[in-house]
Amino acid sequence: MLRTPQRAKSLAVLTSGGDAAGMNAAVRAVVRAGLAADLDVYTIYEGFQGLVDGGERIRQASSESVGGILHQGGTVLGTARCDRFRTPEGRRQAAKNLVLLGIDALVVIGGDGSLTGANLFREEWRGHLKALVADGEIEQDMAEAHRRLTLIGLVGSIDNDMFGTDMTIGADTALHRITEAIDAIHSTASSHKRAFVIEVMGRNCGYLALMSAIAAGANWVLIPENPPEEDNWEESMIDALEAGRSIGRRLNIVIVAEGAQDRNGNPITAQHVKQTLEDRLGEDTRVTSLGHVQRGGAPSAFDRYLSTVLGYAAVEQILTSPAAEPQLIGLKEHQIISSPLMECVEQTHAVADRIAERDYEAAMAMRGGSFGDSFRMIKTMVRAQPHPPDPGQRRLRLGILHAGGPAPGMNPAVRVAVRVGIDNGHTMFGIRNGFRGLEVGDIQEMDWMSVNGWASRGGAELGTSRHLPRNGHFADIAAQIEEHQLDGLLMIGGWAGYRAAHRMQAHADEYPALRIPVVCLPAAINNDLPGSEHAIGADTALNNIVSDVDKIKQSAVASGRCFVVEVMGRDCGYLALMSGLATGAERVYLPEEGISLKDLEADVSDLKSGFRHGKRLGLVITSEHADSVYNSGFIKALFERESEGLFSVRQSILGHIQQGGDPSPFDRIQTTRLASKSLDYLIEQALSDSPESAFIGLMHGKIRFTPLTEFPDMIEPEAHRPREQSWMALMPLAKVMAQPGLPKL
Ligand code: ADP
Repeated sequence: MLRTPQRAKSLAVLTSGGDAAGMNAAVRAVVRAGLAADLDVYTIYEGFQGLVDGGERIRQASSESVGGILHQGGTVLGTARCDRFRTPEGRRQAAKNLVLLGIDALVVIGGDGSLTGANLFREEWRGHLKALVADGEIEQDMAEAHRRLTLIGLVGSIDNDMFGTDMTIGADTALHRITEAIDAIHSTASSHKRAFVIEVMGRNCGYLALMSAIAAGANWVLIPENPPEEDNWEESMIDALEAGRSIGRRLNIVIVAEGAQDRNGNPITAQHVKQTLEDRLGEDTRVTSLGHVQRGGAPSAFDRYLSTVLGYAAVEQILTSPAAEPQLIGLKEHQIISSPLMECVEQTHAVADRIAERDYEAAMAMRGGSFGDSFRMIKTMVRAQPHPPDPGQRRLRLGILHAGGPAPGMNPAVRVAVRVGIDNGHTMFGIRNGFRGLEVGDIQEMDWMSVNGWASRGGAELGTSRHLPRNGHFADIAAQIEEHQLDGLLMIGGWAGYRAAHRMQAHADEYPALRIPVVCLPAAINNDLPGSEHAIGADTALNNIVSDVDKIKQSAVASGRCFVVEVMGRDCGYLALMSGLATGAERVYLPEEGISLKDLEADVSDLKSGFRHGKRLGLVITSEHADSVYNSGFIKALFERESEGLFSVRQSILGHIQQGGDPSPFDRIQTTRLASKSLDYLIEQALSDSPESAFIGLMHGKIRFTPLTEFPDMIEPEAHRPREQSWMALMPLAKVMAQPGLPKL
C-alpha cells in the first residue's frame, strides 16, 4: 500500500534547458520563500530527467541546502536533455513521482522548450492521475487531493529571447562576459591594426549582439531581426570601416549574432565577414567565437537580484492563485508581472516565424521600442563621420559638464551626446571640472573623434567636482555662457549637479544668460537622485561590491566568522540593500531606517543562535550613513564583545573601489539611451521660444523627463535622497532571503 502524503502544500523547483547564470539564485529564492510560507519544498536534480527518475533526484530542501550557491554560475541542480519527458509515458512517471510526495506545484526555470514541455505536463496532469489510479499505482484519494498542478515558469536563458519578461535570467551576465572579452580584445588589438569579428549567441534574437555592440563600442553589428538592407551589404560595411580607418581608428570590431542573415534569409557567418574584410579591406582579421564563455562565470549583481525577486514572486503566485492557468513571472518596465505562460511561448515563436518568413519589420516591431531605438542608435554611433549639417538649419552650441562624484558611465554618456549633437549639425563643447570650469571658462569644442574609445572607459575624462555655485558665482557663469554663446547644457552627474542646475535656474531673472535649457542626466553610484529608478554608475558599483564581498566570503576559510561590510551610499541605502540581496547578507542597515540598540541586540542574538546551530559564516552590510554612532566599527566591536566566543568579527570598508573600474554593460547601455534622448530634448528646448530645463530618468523602465523646478519637492528635506524610492519595497524580501538564525553556507 502506498502512503498518502500528510501535507498537500508542497512545491518543487527544477532547472532545465541551457544553463544560465542566476538560476541558483532563483532556486534559492523559491526554496526560502516556500519555507517562509510553511510549504514543504523539494528540489529536483537534472531537470525533467530527475522528475521522471524520481528517488534521490527529488530531495526535500532546507534553507541550508540552498546556502552558498547565490554566487555560483550555472545551476547546482543540474540540467539535462530528457527525451523520456517528451513521451506521455515519461510524463506519467513524472506525475507519479510528484503526487507520491504530495507535490502539486512546480516552478520550472528554463527556456521556451522547457516551459512548453512543462505546460504539456500540466495539461495532461489529470489524465495521468486517472491512469495511475486505474493502474493501481496511486490511490483515488491521493489523486483527488492533487487534482491540479500549479505551474509557474521563470525564464532562464542567456539570449534574452522570451516574451513576458524584459530580461531573462542569465542575459545580463552573458553581456558582462561578452563586454569583458571585447574590452580585452580592444586592449590587445589596438596595438596592431586589425579587425575582429566576434560571434555571440542568439539564434533568433539579436539582443546580445546589439547590446554588446553598444556597450563595447563596436563598429558594425549583424542581427537576425534586421538584416542589412542592401543586397551588397558587404560594400556598406567595408565603406564604413574604411572611413573609420581613414580618420585614425586603429581597430575594427564587427559583432555577428549566431543567427544573423541577409535579406534573402541566407546565413551571415563570422567566417564570411572575416573573408570579406580580408579580401576587400586587406586587413588582418581574426574571428573570436565566444561560445560557452557567455554562459559561464559568476552571475552579475542584476541577475542575482532578478532571479531572487522572480523566485520569490513565483512562490507568492502559487500561494495566491494555486492551480490557475500556468503563469510566466517576468520583469516588465521594472515591475514584476505574471502573464499566461503559453501566450509568452507563442509570441516568442512568432518572432522566429517572422524572421523565417523574412518579415523583418514585423520581427523588429515585436521586439519593442527600446530594441528599435538601440538599433538606430548604433547606426549613428558606428559612423566614422557625422552627417553634414543642413545649410539652412540653426547650429546650436551645446555644453556638456559633470558634477558630483565620479560615476562609471560618465564617459560613454559624453561620447554619445557629442556624437548625437554633431550628427544633428550642432557644435558641442566640453566643460572641464564641473561648474567650477563653467565659472572660469574652461570650455573646449569637442569633435567626433575626441570621444573615440570612451564607450568603455571608467572615470570622467572631462573631470567632475562637487563644487556648488553660490550667489556670487552666477555672474561668472552667465558671463561665460554669453562669451561662448552656449544655447544649452547637459549636466551628467549627481546631487551637486542637480542642485547647481536648479540654483542656476533660480538666478535666471537676475542674469538672463542663465535662461538656457539644462538637462540633468543621473550619474551617481549612490542612486540617490529623484526622477529616476536607476542612476548611471550604480550598477557598476553594485557589481564591484558584489565581487568584493564574494572574495571576502571566500577568504573565510576558517569557520565562525562574521563580516561587517560598509558600503557607500551617503544618505541612500540603495547600494546596501541591493548588495545585501545579491550577496546573501543576513542583515542590512540603511540610513532610511536607521539603527537602534534594540535592532543590534536582536541581530547579535540571531547571529549567536545561527552559529550555535552550525552557521559557519555571517555577513552584515551597512550603509556608510546608516547611523552616525552605530557605524561599522561600532557594530564590529559590539558583535565581537557579545559573540560569547561563537564567532569572530571582521570589519571591511570597501571605499573607493566601488566608484572605480569600467562601467558595467547595463550602465553603458542605459547611459547611451539616456544621453541620446537628453540631447534630443536639449536641442528641442534650445530651439523653442520658452525653453524648459528638466532631469531625465528611467521610471518603470521608461525614459521620462521631469521639470527641474520639481527638484526641491521630490527630495527629502534633511537628507540627500529622493522622497520616493521604489526599491525600499524589497526590504521584506531581503529579510525572508536572509532568514537570520538559520544555518547557511
Ligand atoms: P530550453 O528550455 O533551453 O529551450 P530545450 O528545448 O533543450 O531547452 O528543452 C529542455 C528539455 O525540455 C528537453 O530536453 C525536454 O525534456 C523538455 N522539452 C522541450 N520541449 C518539449 C516538448 N515539446 N514536450 C515535452 N518536453 C519538452
